[in-house]
Amino acid sequence: MEKKPFVTLEKLREIEKEIPTPFHLYDEKGIRENAKALQEAFAWNPGFREYFAVKACPNPYLIQILQEYGCGCDCSSLTELMLAQALDCTGEQIMFSSNATPAEDYRYAKKVGAIINLDDITHIDFLEQVIGEIPETISCRYNPGGVFKISNGIMDNPGDAKYGMTTEQIFEAFRILKGKGVKNFGIHAFLASNTVTNEYYPMLAKQLFELAVKLKQETGAHISFINLSGGIGIPYKPDQEPNDIRVIGEGVRKVYEQVLTPAGMGDVAIYTELGRFMTGPYGCLVTKAIHEKHTHKEYIGCDACAVNLMRPAMYGAYHHITVMGKEDAPCDHKYDVTGSLCENNDKFAIDRMLPKIDRGDLLVIHDTGAHGFAMGYNYNGKLKSAEVLLKEDGSYQIIRRAETPRDYFATFDCFPIYEKLFR
Ligand SMILES: *Cc1c(COP(=O)(O)O)cnc(C)c1O
Repeated sequence: MEKKPFVTLEKLREIEKEIPTPFHLYDEKGIRENAKALQEAFAWNPGFREYFAVKACPNPYLIQILQEYGCGCDCSSLTELMLAQALDCTGEQIMFSSNATPAEDYRYAKKVGAIINLDDITHIDFLEQVIGEIPETISCRYNPGGVFKISNGIMDNPGDAKYGMTTEQIFEAFRILKGKGVKNFGIHAFLASNTVTNEYYPMLAKQLFELAVKLKQETGAHISFINLSGGIGIPYKPDQEPNDIRVIGEGVRKVYEQVLTPAGMGDVAIYTELGRFMTGPYGCLVTKAIHEKHTHKEYIGCDACAVNLMRPAMYGAYHHITVMGKEDAPCDHKYDVTGSLCENNDKFAIDRMLPKIDRGDLLVIHDTGAHGFAMGYNYNGKLKSAEVLLKEDGSYQIIRRAETPRDYFATFDCFPIYEKLFR
């Protein structure tokens, strides 16, 4: 499928007058339509709730939009819990799915009343020590090990993942928790990441539903929800077919009716913790070509760098690039598109065929709406960019300003940098 930006060159030139590049831009219309489609796909399940994975895009303006569609927050750290709290998202609207959890984070999760999803059996004692009790509602994270297969091959490798409890452990955990007075149980698993197939969720659901039936039979636990977590992917590459959330919702319904309903478990709520699927395609990184360099290869140097988008440097991830205004020009130039970090992996694209790029051209780097800005860091003293929302009516709004040097130096309480530089 051809990948087209959700914004025009004209609009970007207008925004650029107020907000210098680079910046992340988000598409309100796309976020809304997609959130609505998700709710409709799972409307057959009365208890359904999407807990948006805050780590994917921790911007309160965007989470507020998702809240309008009934989404809660999936948090994994203290500050993510705080962000949810600031959005008046509390109690069972928060899923706290963390691992290697610090005591302080569990205390905060209790304070805001979040549902706690235990990553390990040893966390039962840890949690009890830290918060003085075991909540009546609790979830356990499951990891069956091995590899996760679908019809056309291996999807991911849970046996290598640090998360979750083994099959034996989750049965034991349920018995212990039941003994400690837990009334409502949840099961959670995240077995494959960025799956671009409608098969993943239904297959995962079948595995978890069958586990739930056994857990109920063997431990007598009342299972109130099953959390399919994240993992529904997006087509980063032009040749990938996007997932169809309606097909996915129907697929989950089918296995629900096959496995849970006959076991007398037709009241189990389905939860999801999608991140990438909710905002990924509805964000892009807008950067300007500021240099061209002709040495052993052809380089385009941008004003953005891996600090703004780490995925290509970190995992060699593909992000599609559109040279704005040159959509119809032939892709007859082979470029490495780079940032300015003193790290040779700071490249948004390697050997990418693109139209001829001139200095001053605006590049749209696609699909940065999840795990994009959020992964940002400050290496080389680079500052994080602004985030901008392109609204449904075509206007735009700054939803996070760019960092300034003052922000960068703000934590040096012990050295008089402020006095020297900013006075
Ligand atoms: C990262 C994460 C998610 C979201 O994953 P996506 O791939 O963005 O859908 C959900 N749940 C947990 C526990 C996670 O760590």
